[in-house]
Amino acid sequence: MTPLLDFRSDTRTAPDRAMRAAMAGAEVGDDAYGDDPRVLELEAAGARLLGKEAALFLPSSTMANLVAVLAAAPAPGTRLLTGAETHLARMEGEGVRRFARVELVELAQRDDGAPEPAALAGALRAGAGRPAVLSLENTCMLHHGNALAPADLAPLVELGRAHGCPVHLDGARLANAAVALGLPVAELAAPADSVTFCLAKGLGAPVGSLLCADADFVARARELRLQLGGTMHQSGVLAAAALEGLERLDRLAEDHAVAAALAEGLASVPGARVPRPPRRTNIVTVKLNGVDAGDLHERLADRGVLVLPLPDGNVRFVVHREHRPQAVPLVVRALAEAAIQ
Ligand SMILES: *Cc1c(COP(=O)(O)O)cnc(C)c1O
Repeated sequence: MTPLLDFRSDTRTAPDRAMRAAMAGAEVGDDAYGDDPRVLELEAAGARLLGKEAALFLPSSTMANLVAVLAAAPAPGTRLLTGAETHLARMEGEGVRRFARVELVELAQRDDGAPEPAALAGALRAGAGRPAVLSLENTCMLHHGNALAPADLAPLVELGRAHGCPVHLDGARLANAAVALGLPVAELAAPADSVTFCLAKGLGAPVGSLLCADADFVARARELRLQLGGTMHQSGVLAAAALEGLERLDRLAEDHAVAAALAEGLASVPGARVPRPPRRTNIVTVKLNGVDAGDLHERLADRGVLVLPLPDGNVRFVVHREHRPQAVPLVVRALAEAAIQ
């Protein structure tokens, strides 16, 4: 029997021994009263890492994005401009429409995942006079995890700013982008007013996300988190695990190396097409000639390899710290067998 190899998401890591020890030993307070020492430490560390004045610990990146939109949106009916193939548009659209009462405006994206500057310019023109918020994403989840460099995003930020838009960055995997580009996380975060930074993806914490911004924005976000029911009490237990995760940022390079080897191996299978993002991080997608994504997902699952079928016909592998380089040949063999089934 093949060992089960789960590549569905980098959220699928269990806290390891060091994280569990940190959780067990965490001194706690009550974050609703602002006196949980590990939460305060995590928020300070996050703010430093992202180069912002302050940070807020939230239960998920979905809530961090919603709170960011609410804190930035000056009025109901604000237009939220974001790439059509972003997590926000695809997975959180209904939530932000319902709870933030924004109008979601989906922008066409280039192959590298950055919104087309012309699409943004057109959307800004069409909505002239109405308040708008621009949300960017890095890495680009549905563009094979591509990492965008500051130069890729600068013209978009400039365009948004020229129209008075606050700029949010959904940086759920910003740590992966920073490691892939060899740049400090803060440099990638600098152009944005607010940044979502997930602790439960590649960094491997069991729960949580940080929303980082200036002190006023974070104070508004803190109030919104309370109203949404996202304020937690002895959350120092979770923050302690997340602090461990922050210590391991550099080891994301190992995940990227495994992903690169996986991409190369999968591409060698006859009939397989492996899209090549300009700057790959920890995500590999593959399409098999004549086999739809749901079917390929089943064929691989029969061989002990779990992947996520995507609407674009690819299946997705996300590499995380529980994957060893030795898994690569096993996965390549599973795809080769699936291809001739
Ligand atoms: C995973 C992800 C989210 C949502 O994160 P949760 O913590 O699962 O809510 C948001 N944005 C991006 C880009 C993501 O990859």
